[in-house]
Amino acid sequence: MKGILYTILALFVLYWLFTLIAPSFVEKGMNKTTLTKPYNISQQAKELLESLDFVSDLHSDALLWDRDLTKGSDQGHVDFKRMQEGNSALQAFTIVTKSPKGQNFQENSADAPDNITLLSIGQGQPVSTWFSLMNRALYQCKKLHKAARRFNDEFVVVKSKSDFQELLTRRKTNRNVIGGFLGIEGGHCLEGDIHNLERLYDAGVRMLGPAHFFDNEMGGSAHGIKQGGLTPFGKDVLKEMEQRSMFLDVAHSSEAVMDDALAMFSGPILTSHTGVKGTYDSPRNLSDKHLRAIAERDGIIGIAFFPGATGTNTIAGIVKAMRYTVDLIGIDHVALGSDFDGSVTTPFDISGLGLLIDEMLKQGFTNKEISAILGENVKRFLMEYLP
Ligand SMILES: [Zn+2]
Repeated sequence: MKGILYTILALFVLYWLFTLIAPSFVEKGMNKTTLTKPYNISQQAKELLESLDFVSDLHSDALLWDRDLTKGSDQGHVDFKRMQEGNSALQAFTIVTKSPKGQNFQENSADAPDNITLLSIGQGQPVSTWFSLMNRALYQCKKLHKAARRFNDEFVVVKSKSDFQELLTRRKTNRNVIGGFLGIEGGHCLEGDIHNLERLYDAGVRMLGPAHFFDNEMGGSAHGIKQGGLTPFGKDVLKEMEQRSMFLDVAHSSEAVMDDALAMFSGPILTSHTGVKGTYDSPRNLSDKHLRAIAERDGIIGIAFFPGATGTNTIAGIVKAMRYTVDLIGIDHVALGSDFDGSVTTPFDISGLGLLIDEMLKQGFTNKEISAILGENVKRFLMEYLP
């Protein structure tokens, strides 16, 4: 009997030690940058970045990883300290709950073993998150709220126009005040139950993408097997989102889901992180037709920073995608959609946006255009469409 108890105790200790060491090791291999610090940013770009009133990025999966976001880190891409360092005012924190083994942009099965299950167990998350996608999503929401409370009252979780106004007002006298809003990558975390949307909304979620890497209860993924349109359940969810003025994120959606959504959804629409087929023809990227359609609906296109979206690991490739999109649909609809911390390699982390500005200046963007893409477009969108 004693022997069994000792064995169980030893296993617990081993598991606990594993949760202390393994997660940071895993993240270091997943969220990398090609450039190392200190970044070589020109004085002109530094000053321009500092002069910007509002800088915002539409996609970071930072909540997925086992890091204290209130503390600066050299791991991953986004935390509150690095946001302050890079004059970033608002970050969209997006929640991933399931990612199929062997994940790729062509074809993934919903039945493939799930990497996030292993990650949840390996990080020592509450047992309730090990096998429930909904609990995983709620856990990550809580994580942001908790971090916000612990950040010297300098982090605003934006859930409404008035929260957003508060953030903008407070930043006028204190640039250290930053904020974030919550989004979901993939409606599979609703677990097929429409009531779960309300639970997510109550937990602060204001943006949702129907599918992530595989087809789910809501509809097809651009990387799924059938890649079909919205299901009746998907349509029901979109109607509920409309009533709450939640943002529909079509990143990763199949073309059929995009077409269905554009036809039936009258709420705010955007893509939080994407490349464009015009500079890199990949299933991950948006066609001219869908770029135009989203712009016509006053939507926003967040341009991603990783090779899977831009076709290269250079900053020039990111800016090329921005230039193409601006030329196609106009300056008012383009924004930053890095995909920081999304298991990708980006050129720099959130503190390095000056490097992006240097390249934008090089490719002929004006100060006004830079300010629009780095944040003013998102500011206008949030002012208009937040509940
Ligand atoms: Zn993504």
